[in-house]
Amino acid sequence: MFDTLISNYIVIVTISGVLSALLALFAYYKETDFAGIKAFILSSWASAIYTFGFALELSGNTLQEINLWIKVEYLGLPFIAPASLIMVMHFVGLERLIKRGMRSVLFAIPVITTLMVWTNQTHHLFYQSIYLRQGTPSPLVDVIIGPWYIVHGSFTFGCLLTATSLILWQWSRMKRVYRRQLTTFLIGLCMPTLGSFLYLLGKTPYGMDPVPVIMSLTSLLYIWAILSRGMLTAAPIARENLFESMLDGVLVTDLSDMLVDYNRAAAEMMQGLDSAAIGKPLAQLFLPAGKEAVSYVMDADLLQHEEREVAWIKGAEVCYYQVRSSPVMKRGGHLAGRMIMLIDVTERTLLQEKLQQLATIDSLTGIYNRTHFLEMSNDLLIQAVDNKTPFSIILLDIDFFKSINDRYGHEYGDIALQHIVEICSRNLRDGDIFGRYGGEEFVMSLPNTTLTQAGQLSNIIRADIEQSSLHTLVGSIKVTASFGVVEAGSRDTSLEELLSDADHALYTSKRGGRNTVHLSQGSEITPFKPIEEL
Ligand code: GH3
Ligand code: MG
Ligand code: MG
Repeated sequence: MFDTLISNYIVIVTISGVLSALLALFAYYKETDFAGIKAFILSSWASAIYTFGFALELSGNTLQEINLWIKVEYLGLPFIAPASLIMVMHFVGLERLIKRGMRSVLFAIPVITTLMVWTNQTHHLFYQSIYLRQGTPSPLVDVIIGPWYIVHGSFTFGCLLTATSLILWQWSRMKRVYRRQLTTFLIGLCMPTLGSFLYLLGKTPYGMDPVPVIMSLTSLLYIWAILSRGMLTAAPIARENLFESMLDGVLVTDLSDMLVDYNRAAAEMMQGLDSAAIGKPLAQLFLPAGKEAVSYVMDADLLQHEEREVAWIKGAEVCYYQVRSSPVMKRGGHLAGRMIMLIDVTERTLLQEKLQQLATIDSLTGIYNRTHFLEMSNDLLIQAVDNKTPFSIILLDIDFFKSINDRYGHEYGDIALQHIVEICSRNLRDGDIFGRYGGEEFVMSLPNTTLTQAGQLSNIIRADIEQSSLHTLVGSIKVTASFGVVEAGSRDTSLEELLSDADHALYTSKRGGRNTVHLSQGSEITPFKPIEEL
C-alpha cells in the first residue's frame, strides 16, 4: 500500500520536474523584455533539478543511493530562493538595487551549500549524520543537521521573506491593474514555504514532502504573472513610479469620458480629485475649475489631439493649465478612451502678462505708453477711415511743469503727473484711448468724435485741471495744461501727420499764454471757443 503511494507520488513528482524544466525552456525561447526572465529561467531550472533529484531519492533503496540523489537535489535547491528574489526585484521595479556585489553574495552562498553537500562526508558541516528511518516499509532518510544547514536554511528563508516583503511594500504603490500579478507572485512565493511548514508539522498526506510538486506550480504562477497583460514592456512599478512622480497631472478616461485613472500631480492640481472620483464624468470633475475647464472637456474631440491653455480656478486663486488631450488606443487600434495632461503654466502665463504690461503700460501713470498708444490709435484711425466716421486727437502738455519739479521736487512732479492722468481719465469715455506721449505730454484718440466735440472735451478737461488744485503736504499746487486738437476728417492722413498738426495747435496754445485749447483745421489753427461764445 505504502509502496504504491510512493510510486504514485514519484510519478507526480517526476511530472512536476518535467513541468519545471518545460517552463524554463519555454521562458528561454519566449521573447520578452522582462529583465528578470533570466532569474526565472534559473529558478525553474533549479526547481527541475531539485524535483528530479527528489523523485530519484524517493525511488532509492539504499542509504548510498539516497545520499547520491540528495547531492543531485542540492545542485538545484539552494539556487531557487535567491533567483526568485532577483526576479521579484525586477518585477517590482527595484532592479537598480541589484548590484554586482549583491548578486555575488546571493549566489556565493548557494554555491558553498552545494559544495558542502557534495563534500559532507569529509567535514559533516551540512549533515552531522544521515541515516535510514527505522520501521518504514520503503527507505526514507532522517538527518541531524549541521551548522551550514542552518546558514543555508536561514539564507533561503531570508531570500523568500525579503521577496515577500518587497511585494507587500510595493503593494500600496501599485495601481489596481498590476495587483493581480502581484498577488500571483505572492502566492507563488508563499506556497513552498507553507508546504514545508505543513510537512514539518506532519500535516501533509502520508507525511510526503510536497515542496517539489509545489515548486512547479510556483513556476507556473510566476510565468503567468510575467507574461500576462502589460508585463512585457517594462517593470510595472517603474512605469507606475514614473506616472506618479510626473510633475504634470495625468487623467485617463474611458470611452464614455468617465475617469479611470489619475496620478498624484493631477490630485494636487485639481480640487476634490481622490479615489472617489474614479468612475465620475470628467465634466463633473472639471466643474469647480470654472467655465473654461468645463468647455474644454465638452468641446475636445475624443479622437483628436487637443491642446489649450485654460484659466483654472483652484480655490481662491486662478491658475493657468496647458490642457492636452490625446486618444488612448488599444492594441488593435481601437479607441479605449483619452488621456488628459495638465501642465501648470501659471508662472509662465503671469510672466507673459507682466511682460505684456511692461511693454504696453507706463509704469508711473498706469496708462498706455507711447508705442502702444500709437499702435492702438493707428487701428482706430484705419477703422474710422473705412467706416467714414469722425476721429479726433487731443494732445496736451502741462504748463510750466519744470517749475513744479524745481519748486517742490521731482516726487511732487510725479504726483502732479498722476493727478493730471486721473483728471483726464475721469472725463474720457469708453472706447477713447489715452496714453503718455512724452515726459509731461499726454495724448488721446477719440473715435466717433468731431473736431468741435473734441475741442469741447479738451476745454472741459482744461477747466477741470485748472480747478482741481493738487493738494499735498507742502501745500496746494496749481496746475494748468495747454491743448492742441485735430480731426482726421475725410482727408487720407497718417497718424503722424495728425499728431504733428495737433502739436502745432498745442504750440499755438503755449504761445498764446497757456491754459488754452487750439484746433487745427486744414492749414489753419484757431482758438477753441465754447459753444456759448460761438
Ligand atoms: P511749458 O509750459 O512750456 O510746457 O514748460 P514746461 O516746464 O512744462 O516744459 P519743459 O519741456 O521745459 O519741461 C518739461 C519737464 O518735465 C522737464 C522734465 O524734467 C520734466 N519731466 C519729464 N518727465 C518727468 C517725470 O516723469 N517726472 C517728473 N517729475 N518730471 C518729468
Ligand atoms: Mg513738454
Ligand atoms: Mg510743459
